[in-house]
Amino acid sequence: LEDLLKINPLDYQSLRYRVLQAYVEKVKVPESIYSKGSEEVRKFRYMLKAEKTFQIVSTSLSSIARAPRKESLPAFYGEIIDIASKGLYNTVIDEAVKAIKIISRLWREYRNKILDSSSVSEAKTYSREFVGRVLSIVKRNVKHLYITKDIAKIVKETPCIDTSSPLFIIAGMPQVGKSTLVSKISSAKPKISPYPFTTKNVILGHLDLGSTRIQIMDTPGILDRPLSEMNDIERRAIAALRTLQSVVLYLIDPSIDAYYSIDQQIDVLRTVLTIVGKEKILVVFNKIDKVDGKRLDYCRKLLNSYGYNVDLEISALQGIGIDKLIIEALKRYDLLYKTSYSYSQ
Ligand code: GDP
Repeated sequence: LEDLLKINPLDYQSLRYRVLQAYVEKVKVPESIYSKGSEEVRKFRYMLKAEKTFQIVSTSLSSIARAPRKESLPAFYGEIIDIASKGLYNTVIDEAVKAIKIISRLWREYRNKILDSSSVSEAKTYSREFVGRVLSIVKRNVKHLYITKDIAKIVKETPCIDTSSPLFIIAGMPQVGKSTLVSKISSAKPKISPYPFTTKNVILGHLDLGSTRIQIMDTPGILDRPLSEMNDIERRAIAALRTLQSVVLYLIDPSIDAYYSIDQQIDVLRTVLTIVGKEKILVVFNKIDKVDGKRLDYCRKLLNSYGYNVDLEISALQGIGIDKLIIEALKRYDLLYKTSYSYSQ
């Protein structure tokens, strides 16, 4: 993640602006050049101006060229970046690498040309020509420079997940009580991380159980539609479910007046199951404080008719069944990843 944070968010216009701004600024010629006479000093000045352009452009492009390729990123970040960059992340890295090579070669050529000029005006012409050519190389070769802005934004908004401690991901349709559950669990020992993102993104909270720090992630609500029609926010939720070593708590609101019907919620559960696999998921009925026994029974049976079971029944709002939920989730985590957190408390 650190390497990704180093990517300089840029587009062609802002880079061009920075280069031109820097070009008109005064440059300081070293004392040693003064002894060579005023003509040489003026030529040297044009060399320094061109050098500034070279430095700005190559530093900016290097931050991209040096970024880890998608294959070497942890799967979750790879997917998040793919979504943000519309699959063009590796492409922009390749473009930057190639452009740096061309620009470095050009710089060596123009540096000599400027210093060897027969007159100040020739030095000036070469210096300006260099700037024009560099900018046109960037424009032509780094066509996807603009996506670095989207990448930088998403990297800043994505929490850093500690892969050495257990992670529970809360999933489900909007309004089923995901945020309520996250804040309830995390407030048991209030340690909600102060990450500056909105509830539309993934949010990470913590719960300290003895020496074990459990990470609890709230994901954006997933809607009842095929993967191909999901928006970027839903796709990020799916990426988290699929790629992170975790137990998924799939929340269902069985109330009669739930925002989405029980059938819709089971539909989404089926989609999630096909992506994530049955082993990783605990199916949780929430809001049992406001659902009567008859309705609960109906919902359980409906779920059974699809071949699924309710693993737990809770009320996030009133704190009913939360301890059991954590114990069961931790047991499932141990089973899946051959750890022993549930026994170390
Ligand atoms: P999210 O969209 O899944 O994150 O859902 P929220 O956590 O924002 O909850 C949606 C609404 O359901 C809010 O008005 C919550 O107060 C309410 N809610 C959440 N959990 C419970 C619960 O256990 N019982 C009841 N009665 N309401 C709940």
